[in-house]
Amino acid sequence: MPAFNSRIHQALADREQQGLRRSLQVLERSNQTLLAQRGQRYINFSSNDYLGLASDAALAHAWQQGLSLYGCGSGASPLVTGFSEAHQTLERTLCEWLGFERAVLFGSGFSANQALLFTLLQKGDLLLQDKLNHASLMEAGLLSSAQMKRFQHNDVAHLTRLLNEQVTTLVVTEGVFSMDGDQAPLTDIQAALGSNAWLAVDDAHGVGVLGERGAGSCQAAGIKPQVLVVTFGKAFGLSGAAILCDAALGDYLTQFARHHVYSTAMPPAQAHALTHAAGMIQSEAWRRDKLAELSALYHELLCDVPGFVATQTPIKPFVLGSAQRALHIASAMRDAGLWMTAIRPPTVPSGSARLRITLTAHHTPQHIQQMADTLKQCVETSHE
Ligand SMILES: *Cc1c(COP(=O)(O)O)cnc(C)c1O
Repeated sequence: MPAFNSRIHQALADREQQGLRRSLQVLERSNQTLLAQRGQRYINFSSNDYLGLASDAALAHAWQQGLSLYGCGSGASPLVTGFSEAHQTLERTLCEWLGFERAVLFGSGFSANQALLFTLLQKGDLLLQDKLNHASLMEAGLLSSAQMKRFQHNDVAHLTRLLNEQVTTLVVTEGVFSMDGDQAPLTDIQAALGSNAWLAVDDAHGVGVLGERGAGSCQAAGIKPQVLVVTFGKAFGLSGAAILCDAALGDYLTQFARHHVYSTAMPPAQAHALTHAAGMIQSEAWRRDKLAELSALYHELLCDVPGFVATQTPIKPFVLGSAQRALHIASAMRDAGLWMTAIRPPTVPSGSARLRITLTAHHTPQHIQQMADTLKQCVETSHE
């Protein structure tokens, strides 16, 4: 008998015993500010839908219009017959907005990151990643042909010590870190690179939220990396991703990135909707203004409470210490109708288990007030 059965059973039992087994939750209106489960309503503080586009009626209409124009699926991979006018328009829109020569589309951010690291890096290269980079980047780096080293989070001095002018090097950081909500020191990182390194920025949580017209972390920092990864599952309210780069790398990825060559192109209707989302992100500055207002209110209400962390982004970690305390408080918040996620080791360092609270443009000041009051109460009545 193959070992699969015992292996699966053992892994699941281990998870269970560590208290780390996770399960899918069936939610109603899961992409809205007020979600529900079994008749109970919750204010959603867990989504990455920062601008509130995932449930936007105008964006849904654009997707429907795309379906009328283009039908359902793309029918093939991009280099066969899957690449339509809708895909080309999306690529051009992204290039113009974000200031790059080429955009190459992917089905997800996870596959875009794999495609980038697998295709660009060769044996003998050095890959330097921020220690807190997303799992997709870490996994791709480990599986790539390059030697991977991790530098301490946002530590440019450590990065500088790891750089080696003799070796072809790719430095990869996120623009905004997903668990901490803090920003990479992009200007300093770019200045430290030297002449034998490229910089790739994964701006999954920055694009749409930061910078003029929502152009993201790099625009806000005044830098232009060689490679910019944007994903469409967060502020865009949809799904998919793009790698932005110069014409030569764009052509290279088009030819050689296996996730691009051998994978069905995204439905043209989705590309059409994404172009519409890019337009809304640029023109509807009120969504970013609203986030800034809510963020200031969050700061004002909670900055004196132990565990508060100030961030310039809609991601608000609230550090509670032990995994047990984080779970306890997350569950008390949930009982009070506030849906948020406890993030525990090994996702975050031991002793820094936290709530990950995210704000969106669809929250109201009353939502923030209610959440802050309840959180304050929970923190005061639950000690380490
Ligand atoms: C969400 C995320 C991804 C993965 O993107 P998907 O489109 O969800 O696959 C990649 N990088 C970062 C930093 C992310 O937060």
